[in-house]
Amino acid sequence: MRFVIIGGGPAGTEAATTAARLGVDVVLVERDVVGGAANLWDCVPSKAMIATGGAMSALSRIAGMGVSHAGGHLDLAALAARITGITEHLEGSTTDILLSQKVELVRGAARLDGPHTVVVDAADGTRRLDADAVLVCTGSRPRIPDWADLDGDRVLSTRDAYPPKALPEHLVVVGSGVTGVEFVHMFESLGCQVTLIVSRQQVLPRKDPEVAAVLEEDFLRRGVRLLKGARAVGVDRVGDIGDWDGGGGSGPGVVVRCDDGRSVVASHALLAIGSVPNSEELGLETAGVEVDGSGYVPINHHCQTNVPHIYAAGDLSGKLPLSSVAMMQGRKVAEHVVGGHSVAHRHLNYDKAASAIFTEPEIADVGLAEADAFAEGRKIRVTKVPFASSARALIDNDPRGFVKIVSDPATGVVLGGSIVGRNAAELISVLAVAVTAGLKVADIVDSMLVHPALAETLAAAAD
Ligand SMILES: Cc1cc2nc3c(=O)[nH]c(=O)nc-3n(C[C@H](O)[C@H](O)[C@H](O)COP(=O)(O)OP(=O)(O)OC[C@H]3O[C@@H](n4cnc5c(N)ncnc54)[C@H](O)[C@@H]3O)c2cc1C
Repeated sequence: MRFVIIGGGPAGTEAATTAARLGVDVVLVERDVVGGAANLWDCVPSKAMIATGGAMSALSRIAGMGVSHAGGHLDLAALAARITGITEHLEGSTTDILLSQKVELVRGAARLDGPHTVVVDAADGTRRLDADAVLVCTGSRPRIPDWADLDGDRVLSTRDAYPPKALPEHLVVVGSGVTGVEFVHMFESLGCQVTLIVSRQQVLPRKDPEVAAVLEEDFLRRGVRLLKGARAVGVDRVGDIGDWDGGGGSGPGVVVRCDDGRSVVASHALLAIGSVPNSEELGLETAGVEVDGSGYVPINHHCQTNVPHIYAAGDLSGKLPLSSVAMMQGRKVAEHVVGGHSVAHRHLNYDKAASAIFTEPEIADVGLAEADAFAEGRKIRVTKVPFASSARALIDNDPRGFVKIVSDPATGVVLGGSIVGRNAAELISVLAVAVTAGLKVADIVDSMLVHPALAETLAAAAD
């Protein structure tokens, strides 16, 4: 049995190691960096930048803890080296794991040439690989609208933001979804002036309004300008912004035009308006694999495409665009390839995936949202406890945010929850386990947790 995987991001590497452990002959083809876009451009560098910004903002937090400080100075060259160091380390360690599991790693761009053949254009020539099963997990890339001419200098995609060469004096971010708000937080905490163009009346339009309100309040407190109800329709580079913004600045910059006639003058613009799948030039049509109108590859609950031995996973599958989901899909595919169709605990339920937004405060949620339950007319019990009542939050001098738990009033089963606050991305794990395992609020209340710890607020909300 030979299993060929196209794409070495979270989906591909997880599928490769799982299948190899289960005794399959695995070939993984990667055209760029092992670890994928997740390691090179998305999750890892963005969180490394945010961690540095967080260290700088921690200086103001410790000022309230009896520590005096002279203020932080950002060393951009050191930050760039740190990001490169982390991504290279992760690429090396992932490659080591693959090789130790006897995965054959082939460098080059791959495409299907019929349902059982993968062709790789490698530096040393073309190679044809016969395959019993194929996983296509080539990821996605930033969506660039036709009204924007990216130059990697003043008009940027999320991939142009790091390693940072220079910090923008004033950055206008277009797009107020998860990626957009993380970039606002990242650059503001590093010391930039930031304007966010919000097409609706709420940042994070798909999130619980109460959750989004905490973030908006924090952005406004930090001096982030929110331009609400405006849709960007054009961006122009200008030689001297002084000619545009009434003398408030000078030097080269950008003007972002909105559909309501307003415009924003800034030094740089960054577009964070979604992504498009990498499904071109993969030979999907030669193998008979269906692609939907947006370029995604539809899959069933085993991640099979319409051609049963050809699977798709990760961003390409058009499900939840998260590394964690891509990895779980990769595992699922490997188990299915080996024949473990009945592994019940690996059954994917995308509604139970936890997700986080690495702003300050962090935002994380899992399962059923309060607003969705109301929209469905479903009976729920909602309990909410602020971190202001947590000893640990007060000790850490950061009592912002809250824990909200959604449960079934009849059975007490935990259906979902949201956490806004310090370490929310870690704390949500407790609720994620509860939602996945069908635990009850009483199971959380009955757990003897550490004191003083932020997790105690989870138990208080469950009570
Ligand atoms: C700014 C940003 C921040 C993010 N932060 C997070 C986060 O904090 N947490 C989280 O869970 N998710 C995050 N995401 C989402 C996450 O990055 C993606 O969901 C994840 O990378 C998807 O994994 P993948 O395996 O599908 O694809 P990718 O990581 O994109 O990997 C696909 C791989 O396929 C390779 N490839 C493409 N075509 C070919 C070909 N023809 N032949 C060979 N190889 C090929 C590519 O080189 C690439 O290495 C973020 C996204 C963005 C944009």
